[in-house]
Amino acid sequence: MDFVIPAPEQVSVAVAGESKRFPVRRIFCVGRNYVAHIREMGGDERDPPFYFCKPADAIVPTGATIDYPPQTNNFHFEMELVAAIGKGGANISEDDALDHVYGYATGLDMTRRDVQIAHREKGRPWDMGKGFDQSAPCGDIHPVSEVGHFPEGNIWLKVNGETKQDSDLKLMIWNLQETIANLSGLVTLAPGDLIYTGTPDGVGPVVSGDKMHGHIDGLSDIEISVR
Ligand code: MN
Repeated sequence: MDFVIPAPEQVSVAVAGESKRFPVRRIFCVGRNYVAHIREMGGDERDPPFYFCKPADAIVPTGATIDYPPQTNNFHFEMELVAAIGKGGANISEDDALDHVYGYATGLDMTRRDVQIAHREKGRPWDMGKGFDQSAPCGDIHPVSEVGHFPEGNIWLKVNGETKQDSDLKLMIWNLQETIANLSGLVTLAPGDLIYTGTPDGVGPVVSGDKMHGHIDGLSDIEISVR
């Protein structure tokens, strides 16, 4: 096919133990999925799940150094479990949901918190607080065939060696089956979609020179520096 301008490269994420890569289609993020994080941010603890998106090319691999983004003085980390969708579908049942997952990764939902809150207070979209350049660092994807699923497990994030977030995946309000069932009732999920499943409490800022190190039991760690 010929294009009038150069076509964008396919965004992809490395797969652990594989030379082939995972092609990224869309990035869906779950908002407020741990009670302790709702309490630190303010919000209704019984709200149904809601979503926002990031552009696929916001992906950054582990080991990278990202630029401190423009238009913010409060650049936050949010450590999250990422589910990589291998099989698409609409109106997926909770019972079938996990069959649609190819694998899992550690991820960071980087956030311009001041921009997000200013837009939230005006009832405006979160996009410029959430979906900016380099805002979706993602570790290597581990296939379900190798590591299984992650209903529980320690999730933590350190900045410059100091623990900032330390929680358990089992504390998610909406587990992954419920999220996939709910989200696939809103949009038809497709192979290549990533779901960032929400962050536990302890979110906070990073500045230039900081090093983030995130971990989920059973997955490879994610390490991202800021300049
Ligand atoms: Mn998040």
